[in-house]
Amino acid sequence: MADQTLARYVNERGVLTLLRVHGPSSRADMARQLSLTPATVTRLVTEMIERGLVREEPRGAAREGREPGRPAVGVALAPDGAYFLGVEIGVGVLRFALLDLAAKVTLTSERIIPRTTPPEAIAVMIGEELAARAADPRFRGRIRSVGVTVPGLVTLDGYVVHLPILGWKELNLKALLAAAVPLPAIVENNATAAAFGAVYTQPELPSDCTIFLKLGTGLGGAAIINGRLLRGGSGTAGEFGHVRIADEGPRCSCGQVGCLETFVNLAALASLWSGRDHSGESEATMLPATVAAAAEAGNPGAVIAIDHLAERLGRGVVSLVNIFNPTMIVLGGVMRPVIERMIPVFEAVVAAGIVPGMRMPDIRLSALGLHECAIGAATIAHHRAFDLSNFDLAVRDT
Ligand SMILES: [Zn+2]
Repeated sequence: MADQTLARYVNERGVLTLLRVHGPSSRADMARQLSLTPATVTRLVTEMIERGLVREEPRGAAREGREPGRPAVGVALAPDGAYFLGVEIGVGVLRFALLDLAAKVTLTSERIIPRTTPPEAIAVMIGEELAARAADPRFRGRIRSVGVTVPGLVTLDGYVVHLPILGWKELNLKALLAAAVPLPAIVENNATAAAFGAVYTQPELPSDCTIFLKLGTGLGGAAIINGRLLRGGSGTAGEFGHVRIADEGPRCSCGQVGCLETFVNLAALASLWSGRDHSGESEATMLPATVAAAAEAGNPGAVIAIDHLAERLGRGVVSLVNIFNPTMIVLGGVMRPVIERMIPVFEAVVAAGIVPGMRMPDIRLSALGLHECAIGAATIAHHRAFDLSNFDLAVRDT
């Protein structure tokens, strides 16, 4: 019995992943793709229709009609069959995103909070947001789990090890959430979640090796190999901001000097642009757009500042390309307006610095925008609950 239950569990997730990655498919196509018998697929689909997870498409909506003379009946995900709440705990802000079963963003919101809000109060606020969503008739009883991100080191068991920007350390955030949120909750590093979200929501892109970098107050990152996050031994891999690119420089939050993130972050941009070490919080939020607009207008100081950041980022990323040989590098974070203008110099520095013969990765901007961490957190919850993350399906078949 146990084996039968496990097989059904795996097959069901195979169906859900296939429909999410490929779109509507006929039962016959699903049986071929998943190496299952048509009878097994029919039984699975019937049960999943009853549970509201998939539904039949109108006639002819399947990708290919394989049965001559008979219109194909397609099966598609029922996007409203399940929802996942993603939460970004930021500095002075909580951002929320609700994802449906098709991993599409249904809604986003944010709540400004005092910077010093204690973690217990934040857990309660997340519970309040969930309660508000769960009271909506569209989502009632269908929100399955919650993903929460923090801008700091998180271990595999949801323990926040080091979060200097909020002054949290050795905090069992997962336990706090368990007390305040009546659903399974996952805790993740913000850049790791944003990276996973960038790949997971675009299954049409290759995912054999993607490096994600998030540029903002700090510089976070993650590597996704064959559709899976590279987590390392205890879950804290991907601290790319601490690649050493110099012997001297500002003291990093990790205690060292010369870390990439001390040269490529909002404070560095402020310093290059205005000559000041730090800018006010509201000013910092606007800063990337301000500098990008100045560069667009031909301001030489803005162009020099952006080129300088691009050169430093390129220097760090040379090491990442040499180590990982990525197919793609995705850049995200609040520095986006500036990042767009950094790409030509950044690309040139990387191309000139990597080992000869190493393939130059494609460079692109994350498509998720301001809520990328919250969306990413929700995709991780989605993946844990409903997915095999079998990205090979997408690569093999397209
Ligand atoms: Zn560092």
